[in-house]
Amino acid sequence: MDIATLHKKICVCQLCDLALSRRVAVPGEGPCPSRIMLIGEAPGKYEDESGRPFVGRAGKLLDEALIKAGIKRNDVFITSVIKCRPPENRKPKRCEIDACNPYLMAQMEILSPNVVCLMGNVAAQTVLGSQGIAALRGKIFSGRFLVTFHPAAVLRNRNLMDAFISDLKMANASALPVLSSAH
Ligand code: SF4
Repeated sequence: MDIATLHKKICVCQLCDLALSRRVAVPGEGPCPSRIMLIGEAPGKYEDESGRPFVGRAGKLLDEALIKAGIKRNDVFITSVIKCRPPENRKPKRCEIDACNPYLMAQMEILSPNVVCLMGNVAAQTVLGSQGIAALRGKIFSGRFLVTFHPAAVLRNRNLMDAFISDLKMANASALPVLSSAH
């Protein structure tokens, strides 16, 4: 399946109750294949209205961090663990994450990213099965998974910004193609 076909499926998905309350699904956006994939938690109000990922206040902070890390937003694929907004921005339920997870796995397969940034506990837990990001942050796992803060957490505590930028820089450096040495 190609990415456009997958995203069309997501946009009409009814596999969990979030289909009843969403305005539009938010599959994600970015190049395919993609060097870097960023995964957040779930769409919020502005994402639910626009159908685009990370366009609210947390999205603006992500944009700022990407620029400071030397990464162009258009060069990365941005999505979230679940594709439809939970009412009142509540945490996604286990059954919703399970219902939506095949879409995330299919995106990873199709996009084939060199580095996958898991932003926040929900993304880290869903993909790595870990319980918290504190001990995992800023390291690369299984050759391509990097755990970092969710931009909304950085928005609440700007002291985390430098570490967030540093993690994004590490993702960028790790996602570079390996150059064979010239002889
Ligand atoms: S959150 Fe995922 S599983 Fe639930 S309706 Fe939306 S796309 Fe389907």
